Amino acid sequence: MRCPSCGYPESKVVDSRSADEGSSIRRRRECLECGNRFTTYERLAEHPILVIKTDGSSEVFDRQKLMRGLLIACAKRPITPEKIEGLIVNLEAELRSTQRTEIKSKDLGDMVLARLAKLDDVAYIRFASVYKDFQSVEEFSQALGELG
Ligand SMILES: [Zn+2]
Repeated sequence: MRCPSCGYPESKVVDSRSADEGSSIRRRRECLECGNRFTTYERLAEHPILVIKTDGSSEVFDRQKLMRGLLIACAKRPITPEKIEGLIVNLEAELRSTQRTEIKSKDLGDMVLARLAKLDDVAYIRFASVYKDFQSVEEFSQALGELG
């Protein structure tokens, strides 16, 4: 956050409060160079969420990747892509609302399954049978793709 007055790159935060119903944080900052005070808004939605795999490695939560996996799990089922997208939006909103920055891949899978259970039994079983053995959505997508 550069000072808008002198351009100095470092500032200290003097006050933080949530804004826009918790979807962003408003910060008052003070330039360490000239003492100028200015306000910044940081959108929580832009913070990446890390998915922690069982082996301890991590990857950034990727909505598209999850979408691909779900499309395959829901293949030939009476589920519109809009419904799948709704599921993901809903899931992401829950992740963001708790302001968490990371989630275990297993917990993420469980969150998907809880939603899928309400949509379609077959898609649920496809997702459950494959997902639990995999460490990432990527691997999961590949495996489901091989199932055809
Ligand atoms: Zn300054």
